[in-house]
Amino acid sequence: MKYCKQCLTTDLRPNASFEDGVCIACNYSGSLHEDNVSLKLTILQDKIQKSRQKQRNKNAYDCIVGVSGGKDSTRQAHWVRDRLGLRPLLVCCAYPPKQMSEIGANNLTNLIEMGFDVIAATPAPQTAAQLALESFKQFGNVCKSTEMSLFSTVPRLAIELGVNTIFWGENPALQVGDAAVEGFDEFDGNNLRRLNTLTAGGTDWLKEAVKAPYLAEHYLYPDEIEFEKKKINIFYLGPAWDDWSNDDNSIYASLQGLTLRPGEELETGDLSNASMLDEEFTNINMMLKYYKFGFGRATDTVNEKIRSGRMTRDEAIRVVEKYDGLCSDRIIRSFSAYVGITETEFWNIANPWVNDDIFTIREGERPIRKFTVGTDYES
Ligand SMILES: [Zn+2]
Repeated sequence: MKYCKQCLTTDLRPNASFEDGVCIACNYSGSLHEDNVSLKLTILQDKIQKSRQKQRNKNAYDCIVGVSGGKDSTRQAHWVRDRLGLRPLLVCCAYPPKQMSEIGANNLTNLIEMGFDVIAATPAPQTAAQLALESFKQFGNVCKSTEMSLFSTVPRLAIELGVNTIFWGENPALQVGDAAVEGFDEFDGNNLRRLNTLTAGGTDWLKEAVKAPYLAEHYLYPDEIEFEKKKINIFYLGPAWDDWSNDDNSIYASLQGLTLRPGEELETGDLSNASMLDEEFTNINMMLKYYKFGFGRATDTVNEKIRSGRMTRDEAIRVVEKYDGLCSDRIIRSFSAYVGITETEFWNIANPWVNDDIFTIREGERPIRKFTVGTDYES
């Protein structure tokens, strides 16, 4: 396992691409200049204009914004309405009631109360639980089917409603270094369909796991022909986000150990205590990702800080050593109950997915790390 020379990304990341020992995300951030953000906003507005001209249904909404019950949704919706001056329809693929948290439900309610039109589509609960277990068994990923429905619902509804401009927040190619989704430029989200979580393993497993074909529809990303027919364009807002710093600042503050809600970061492994508010099972996935690839969410968080010069690599190593891969037994018990397995069964399903080059696997228990964070490791 090799680390990026600048941040703590490892070459085990799916679709990782290193140039002279430096990852794609670090290479990109090296080419960023603060003063071109307003220029980027102009470029984005121009692209939106062109995209909207192709929309046939002129009386409908200007665009669709994909939202969740998470903390970023409110900012994205406001930004599109107030900064870009558009009429957005918010589309939310909500979690089934057993999975959705109280905070998530409140945040979604809040968005509606703010005066936005929101369409929420919720997958059938039993199918959702069954596919979550199937995702876990077949891919070692408890959220694969959930993510498929999250990403697919927005374009599916866009096509159905005849609204052709879609916004997402951050570009995953630049944010986490998934080279497969790199588009024509940094705003272009039309390659989102190549996201590892959507492509890996195809879709046959899904269709086979459900009782009737229609139950799989909710999870399938529309194909390119449908995109072409309806002139659908997906844009990332991230590169033009010049006023995103408030949030960054609060995350940074918590990383400095100042405002952490006691205990919670040790429970979830989430340093900001502010992401994944709408449900808890994603925390399991962050832990599984760590066991597969040698890095987890703490690494992703500190990498951004390193790239923006707000944390040194050495400081980041100390944070990652302590927090990466954390996820409490309580959350694992909760997921196990949701999908109808025992905790022992949970670890039995998880263990074959653990990379035994970098972790020691133990029967029915959590794996133990062999490597030192930030140092290339050979087993
Ligand atoms: Zn890097």
